[in-house]
Amino acid sequence: MPKVKKIPQRQCVGCREMRDKRELLRVVKSPEGGVSLDFKGKQPGRGAYVCHNPDCLKKARKTRALERALSTAIPPEVYDAMEAEMDAQPKGGLQNGAS
Ligand SMILES: [Zn+2]
Repeated sequence: MPKVKKIPQRQCVGCREMRDKRELLRVVKSPEGGVSLDFKGKQPGRGAYVCHNPDCLKKARKTRALERALSTAIPPEVYDAMEAEMDAQPKGGLQNGAS
């Protein structure tokens, strides 16, 4: 039997495009209510997805899409921290320069 590799698709809360889960960054709301980026995709809690792109995060911030998705308020400093963290992460680790 051939193995069908099915990569789950998720929607970016910023640009609203469907992408492979692996290409997206998970934003997780922990059981304690804190919101943070989950680079490994393994943290417990409710998750939302955003492209590995600070622009998408900014868009989600502006439209409050992330807050809706996680049904929680996200303080500005948390957004700032996530944007900084995303900037600090090298891009393209998951794919080869496809834009
Ligand atoms: Zn996006």
